Amino acid sequence: MAHFDVAVAGAGPAGLSAALEAAAGGARVLLLERQPKPGRRLAATGNGRGNVGNRHLAEHRYNPESLPLIKGVSGVLDKDALPAFLASLGIACSADEAGRLYPRSGQAATMVWILNDLLQARGVTVEAGNGLMHFRKEAGVFLLQTADAAHESATLILAVGGQAQPKLGGGDHARRLLADWDVGFRREMPALAPLYTGTVLADGVRVPAAARLYDAGDRLLQTADGEFQLTKTGVSGIAAMQLARTVNRLAAQKHLVFDFVPDMTKTALITWLERIRSVNGQREARYILDSVLPAKLAVALALAIAKQRQNHELDDSHLRQLCAAAKETKLDVTGTAGWDQAQVMSGGVCAGEVNPVTLESHRLPGLFMCGEMLDVDGDTGGYNLNWAFLSGRAAGRAAARYVSSSKRR
Ligand SMILES: Cc1cc2nc3c(=O)[nH]c(=O)nc-3n(C[C@H](O)[C@H](O)[C@H](O)COP(=O)(O)OP(=O)(O)OC[C@H]3O[C@@H](n4cnc5c(N)ncnc54)[C@H](O)[C@@H]3O)c2cc1C
Repeated sequence: MAHFDVAVAGAGPAGLSAALEAAAGGARVLLLERQPKPGRRLAATGNGRGNVGNRHLAEHRYNPESLPLIKGVSGVLDKDALPAFLASLGIACSADEAGRLYPRSGQAATMVWILNDLLQARGVTVEAGNGLMHFRKEAGVFLLQTADAAHESATLILAVGGQAQPKLGGGDHARRLLADWDVGFRREMPALAPLYTGTVLADGVRVPAAARLYDAGDRLLQTADGEFQLTKTGVSGIAAMQLARTVNRLAAQKHLVFDFVPDMTKTALITWLERIRSVNGQREARYILDSVLPAKLAVALALAIAKQRQNHELDDSHLRQLCAAAKETKLDVTGTAGWDQAQVMSGGVCAGEVNPVTLESHRLPGLFMCGEMLDVDGDTGGYNLNWAFLSGRAAGRAAARYVSSSKRR
């Protein structure tokens, strides 16, 4: 039976970072991956471009429960830490105008190739297509069982990811592996997923907007700005998906209020619509919003108003209604898409289960956890990969230190 210093289960960004960091610290490392190849999800991120991080890091970009880990793990809130770490692995990044970091190649797949080459260069033993099925600890050693092999290791790092997108390897792997250890989990739910709404406004429209999410008592829960995609089931796009965590966590009824013309005040919009009316009083009411909104949305909003009106004259009250529809359309939110469409998981192993700096389990010395399996989820914009890479580095570094300090004892 082969013996290792550090065994890592899961070859996503967290596990790859952990394995490489532990190997750089002098450890003999085994990396086990369930799927035929490492880094499958990483290659699919950011629409194939891999939005790995962000120049604007802040605590509020992550779920509140994750705070001890976000603050404890080295570099997660330091804008220079991730680019420097990736550069040390041979990956160069550049930021776009919004501060989102991408590999300079413009392709997420190149990161996977670079990291794979480095695994070889650092002497990491990789077993792909051979996931960890079970582990136990006896006489200070982890005994690891895969489908066709048994290994021993002084430490074990779990980096098995979350439940989002089963087709990219998501599943309840963490719960299965930790079933015997009484580890605390916060209930897992889809995050960064499209929202379902009671009314469908228009299908296939992309529109920049500002949205506010309220509960039934009109308490403001969250805001989101940016591009929304109106679909036949509700609302999608980067901005909408950021609301999914809150929508799923609160059982109460929720609704969204959309401002589709956030750069104009109500007064400015009314003045603009009056101007259009004076330029061409013949334009039909149902088309008049198309000078500020995509035509399909303009028509949908105007038709909903027309149903409530006796006359279709473009009088002042009609203009006020059109303005209100553009600035304050309310939609009931009925839920979110499930795991098949979510990009990340909200919930997972509770932050209190691990040391917030080393990510070592409080229950089982020598066991480390990192990446999305822990209760950390961030907004769109690179925050999840930032966490995955840097938490993997922290776990890999701590596991290598654990091994060298046990050898000294
Ligand atoms: C389509 C899509 C696009 C995304 N785009 C972005 C983006 O642009 N920016 C961003 O920040 N985030 C993005 N994310 C989220 C990001 O990909 C994840 O947060 C990140 O990959 C989590 O890293 P991880 O290493 O913890 O888990 P994963 O990447 O999920 O890796 C876990 C690995 O563990 C393996 N595994 C599971 N069980 C076992 C086992 N028992 N033994 C061995 N191996 C096991 C899995 O097969 C998997 O390869 C995106 C997600 C999706 C689905």
